[in-house]
Order: sequence, then C-alpha cells, then structure tokens
Amino acid sequence: MEDRFELVEQLAKYKKENEELKLKVEELTDFFENASIPLHWVDGDGIIIWANQAELDALGYLKEEYIGFPISDFHADQNVINDILDRLIRNETLYDYSASLKCKDGSVKHVLINSNVLRKDGKFIHTRCFTRDVTEKKYEEQRKNDFVAMVSHELKTPLTAITSYVQLLMRKWGKDTDGFNMQVLSRIEIQAKKMVAMAHDFLSLAKIEDGKIHLRREKFDLESLVREIVVDAQLLTTKHNIRSGDFKGIEIDADRDKIGQVLSNLVSNAIKYSPMGGTVTVTCEKCPGEVNISVVDQGIGINKTDQKRLFDRYYRINDNNHKEVSGFGIGLYLVSEILKYHQSEIKVESEQNQGSTFHFALPAEFK
Ligand code: ADP
Repeated sequence: MEDRFELVEQLAKYKKENEELKLKVEELTDFFENASIPLHWVDGDGIIIWANQAELDALGYLKEEYIGFPISDFHADQNVINDILDRLIRNETLYDYSASLKCKDGSVKHVLINSNVLRKDGKFIHTRCFTRDVTEKKYEEQRKNDFVAMVSHELKTPLTAITSYVQLLMRKWGKDTDGFNMQVLSRIEIQAKKMVAMAHDFLSLAKIEDGKIHLRREKFDLESLVREIVVDAQLLTTKHNIRSGDFKGIEIDADRDKIGQVLSNLVSNAIKYSPMGGTVTVTCEKCPGEVNISVVDQGIGINKTDQKRLFDRYYRINDNNHKEVSGFGIGLYLVSEILKYHQSEIKVESEQNQGSTFHFALPAEFK
C-alpha cells in the first residue's frame, strides 16, 4: 500500500517536472523565434536549418523560401560566405564580420555577423548566427565619405594653383625684391603646401574607406624622393634639423606618390611631436632584397599602451603633451593602410619623453 502511494507521488513529481521543462522549452523557443535580432542556424553542409521571424522579415522571405536552402544563395558575395563557412569550420568565432545579403525584392542589406558553431563530440551540429542590419549606417558613412572626398578635391585644386603662383612670383622676383617680400611669399607657400597635404590625406582616407585606392607602381630612385621630403620638411621648421642617411643607389618598385605621403606624414609628425626641436633623421638599412626605412625623432615619445592603438583611424593620444598639438588622427592610419597595400607594415619603437622611431621595409634593388 505504502509502495503504491510512493509510486503515485513519484509519478506526480515527474509530471510536474515534465510540465515545467515543457514550459521552459516553450519560453525559450518563443524568445528566439520572436527576438528582434535576426538569428539563424546553418548545418555543416551550409544549409539553413532554422531562422527566426526577425531574419525572415528583414530579408522579406517566407519560411519555405528560406529554410532548407543553402545560405550561399542569399549572400551577395560568394567569397565572403565561403570565407565565413571556412572560418566557422576551423572553429573560429566571428565578431562583427561584414557581409551583404540579398533580399527578396532584389535589394541588398549590409549586415554584421556574429557567429560560432555548436559541436557535439567534435561533430558540427549547426552555426549560431546573429545578424545586425547596418545598411542605413553604411549609406550614411558613404554619404559622409563622398562629401569629404568632394570637399578635399575641390580644396586641392585651388590650393595647388596658389602654391604654383607663389612659386612663380618667387622665381620672377627672386633677385629683384627685398628679403621681406620673399619671406612672406615663402610663408604663404609653406601654409598652402600644408593645406594641400591635408586635403591629400582626407582624399586618400575617403578612397581607402571606399576600397578605391589603386597603386601606381613604378621603379624609382629612393634617394631623390627622400631628398624632396627632407627639403620640403626643412622649409616647415627652423627649430629642427632634418637629416637623411645614405640612400644612394636604392631603387624600389612602389607607388612613388603614396610612399612620399607615408614619409611626409612620418616626418611631419616627428616635427610636430618634438616641440622643443632637435634632430629628425630619415635613415635606411640595406638588407638582402629589401630596405628598412626609419624616421627617428627626439620628441615627446609614446607610451606602450598608446602604441597599440596608434594606427587606428582618428586615434589621438589624450595626454597633456600630445593634446597641445592639433591634428585629426588620420596620418598614421593612412601610413599603415598605404603600407598594407604594399604588403608592408609600419612599426614603432618609443618611450615617453625619449623620442620615437617609426620604421617599415620595402623590397629594393641596390645599384
Ligand atoms: P595627428 O593628426 O593627431 O598627428 P596621426 O595619425 O598622425 O594624427 O598620429 C596619431 C597620434 O599619434 C598623434 O595624435 C600623436 O599623439 C601620436 N604621434 C604620432 N607621431 C608621433 C611622434 N613622432 N611622436 C609622438 N607621438 C606621435
């Protein structure tokens, strides 16, 4: 009799637990099905096996038009989805991976994907994929980018003309005019050149953001480029001594204009961030098949923590010494991006108040 009673009690307990479990499953299913973030699962063959309503609504498909189909059918760029699947198979977790998805109405949505894989006993069960729509943000950025590119371009043309006219006057009056006039003209030339360089940097930034930067590679003599940069930089300052090492007989195959932009950004930073003056040196070290180029200053230096973020877009160091110098935080980002296009990398060695050395390598031939 007692046994029976215990059995009935046990059964009631199981029933209750089962109902609670069912409720939990229902709640969780509801949570994922109706979450406002688009979610989906893809199996090991790249087939969508589940998607929530937010995902279907975002792309405009019915369940039967989406679930059961290869995820690659909905990606605008096949290289991107192949890369995503490869990474997930390799067990990587994707954070804010940029992709474009095809909507039913033919439009394309720009999204950021966060995803990793559920595995059981090492077996790929399905991806857990969260998608965030950034189409509007992307268009907004595009409009800003176009605006920056247009303004920079419009500024560059008249500024270049001003520089040329000033140089013409300097040549024409060179011998006949007094020192004061020449000094004023030279100041105008310096300021106009600074503005041309700024407009040039903003234009390059817009091109990089658009992925529209193209290298115009040519073989050129590094010595003459370094000489131009050093002469131009010396014009900007009387406090600093700009020197160059022995660049004789070094030929490199790169985009001359862009490598010039890299050097000129590094040298102008070396001047800007050495407010007490000192020597700025552009040196090189010849190694087999490549040349190591360094820009060395004796300025305020950079602490180790800031060195990690120095090449991020718009990054500026926020301490009292650095804040006093004005800037936009794009120079080093451009340096790093331009060098990446040349399969090279910018590196920094520095200590606070001990000066800085920025260096990079390029393939070279020696004559
Ligand atoms: P900015 O226009 O601010 O100079 P950059 O991208 O060229 O932008 O540089 C980013 C930051 O790195 C600067 O704000 C500055 O704090 C630091 N920096 C760059 N070059 C040097 C240098 N030679 N010495 C010390 N700090 C530097």
